[in-house]
Amino acid sequence: MAEVPDDADLPRLGAWARDLADLEDVLSAPIEAYPDARFPPEQVQRLLAPSDLAETLTRLEAALKAGYPEASPEQTAWDSLTRLEENLKALEIAKGAYRRAYVSHQRAEILLDSFLQARDRVLGRLYDDVRDRFVELYRELHGTDEDAFRARLKPKGAGVDFAVDFHGRGTHPPHALHSEGHQDSMGLCLYMALAEQLTERVINLIILDDVVMSVDAEHRREICRLLATSFPDRQFLITTHDKTWAKQLQVEGIVTGRGRVELYNWNIDTGPQVNHEADMWDRIDQALKKQDVPDAAARLRRGSEEFFSTVCDSLGAPVPYRISGSWELGDFLPAAMNQYNTLLKKAKKAENSWDNRDQIAALNELDSTAGQVFARSNAEQWAVNANVHYNAWSNFTEQDFQPVVEAFQDLYGLFTCSNCGSMLRVARTGTKDSAVRCNCGKVSWNLAEKGKTD
Ligand SMILES: [Zn+2]
Repeated sequence: MAEVPDDADLPRLGAWARDLADLEDVLSAPIEAYPDARFPPEQVQRLLAPSDLAETLTRLEAALKAGYPEASPEQTAWDSLTRLEENLKALEIAKGAYRRAYVSHQRAEILLDSFLQARDRVLGRLYDDVRDRFVELYRELHGTDEDAFRARLKPKGAGVDFAVDFHGRGTHPPHALHSEGHQDSMGLCLYMALAEQLTERVINLIILDDVVMSVDAEHRREICRLLATSFPDRQFLITTHDKTWAKQLQVEGIVTGRGRVELYNWNIDTGPQVNHEADMWDRIDQALKKQDVPDAAARLRRGSEEFFSTVCDSLGAPVPYRISGSWELGDFLPAAMNQYNTLLKKAKKAENSWDNRDQIAALNELDSTAGQVFARSNAEQWAVNANVHYNAWSNFTEQDFQPVVEAFQDLYGLFTCSNCGSMLRVARTGTKDSAVRCNCGKVSWNLAEKGKTD
């Protein structure tokens, strides 16, 4: 017969549990609470192992076993089945999710295959078209040098397989054998061919940002011709740091003087300043109206550097050579004035030799006007001197600077035709300067003296 727990068993266990909890509390802060009168050492020993604990627990265990007998086989089987059903449901849900995922996966595979096929078909066709045009442009650019040039351009995965012929020595990637300059020009031709294919009748504008870094001067001239002849319907926006290239574009007629804009004095706070030949005087005017003399002076200096460098070129004025390639207004302006005087003297001498009275009179008058203009602009040149410190301008007013602007306008006027606006230039016969002309013919100084046939 199982032992029965007596009525005091549960309260006894409850009291023991509370005592243990109190002891735990005390032990959680042993230093602050030491010594605690409630828990002398012998009391703690008794508390951890009460003498009647074993009997109490035995009685409780016996009572629990009597109250809750072990499960019957049927009950155990029923419990197993219940748990099995839960697992089965989870399995079915997982199978459903798998089937749906698999269908999605299959559809995605089909989609990917179709995409890849379509991509290769479209790109393949595009590459074929672009390849032929690219080869054509490149041959045109390099002339007889490359008339057997061939290229391979095929889709390759997400990339492209691009290889070019090197003078009949097989096709290789462009950077394998071709020089940097040739690679640059190749890149340009490829871009132009691609732009032509992709933007035909959609975008008319092609932007070329510093594309001729490594291309030599001779090939740059060919690039100018290519742009002019092969893309007559396209508008180009060409940016460059290279003044030679900018000039070449102008000389070859790709860009007009009015179509050329120069950005300079670029800094983070103010952005770039713009030198635009066409509206330089307007902008100087605007700056003066805002009492911004430094801005007006900077524009006038920059614009004049550009203007007089072109004057020196078109009149053949000697400018001291600098290996750094950097010249400023102080180099160009005196050279341009001297050359103007030299040419005017020559013209007068020539007209004298032919005894052309009207021409002589006109040239004499021009000489006197030019003398005054030069004298005035010489007096005002300090104002656009690059060495005048920026801060010094704070003392100048619009009224101080206006005469400087007018002196320079008169000066510009000497070097341009009042009728057609084009710049005066020296025409040569063989190595001899034969005349000074403008585009319309209003300015025409004969430089050839009578009796001198060399
Ligand atoms: Zn003219």
